[in-house]
Amino acid sequence: MQELKDIIRDVSDFPKKGIVFKDITTLLGDAKSYQQMIDLMSHRYIGKKIDKVVGVEARGFIIGAALAYKLGAGVVLVRKPGKLPFSTFKKTYDLEYGTDTLEIHTDAIKPGENILIADDVLATGGTMGAVVDMVQNLGGNLYECCFMAELEFLHGRKKLPDGKVFSLLKF
Ligand code: AMP
Repeated sequence: MQELKDIIRDVSDFPKKGIVFKDITTLLGDAKSYQQMIDLMSHRYIGKKIDKVVGVEARGFIIGAALAYKLGAGVVLVRKPGKLPFSTFKKTYDLEYGTDTLEIHTDAIKPGENILIADDVLATGGTMGAVVDMVQNLGGNLYECCFMAELEFLHGRKKLPDGKVFSLLKF
């Protein structure tokens, strides 16, 4: 696990001063690490009857799609506004400064389906909190929110349902 942590690159002052950005492209670009990361994450959900994995634009797609393939589940995209062609359910949520909006197709999840949500990094939890709302609004049964990495000092999991958060690597 330490090897996987070590391969993630820290970039200081990105996207703005004072933020240390966890650059996961270094892990994704290393064949062995990427495979190991997906194997370790998917192992947790094998046999759990996950119907669909929701990926959050854009880095969540890279993890969500690979997990879905491993689990024999469908892939659902949560995208930035204006990208999805069919009717959408929109959710606007607070960021540190200002707000952001995400969209999901209204028919992407059927009531009662078992849903896993995937993203790369859990920071403040605002993004994942919005995605959880979207999934629940469509009637999905949230199995878990999973992240490749969690920035524990930001306490993002407090914004998410109790006991439904998993992160592979903790910083
Ligand atoms: P959050 O604050 O949890 O809503 O984070 C929003 C999104 O921004 C997540 O999907 C992360 O991919 C990304 N993010 C936030 N902070 C960082 C960080 N320090 N390093 C890398 N990604 C981050």
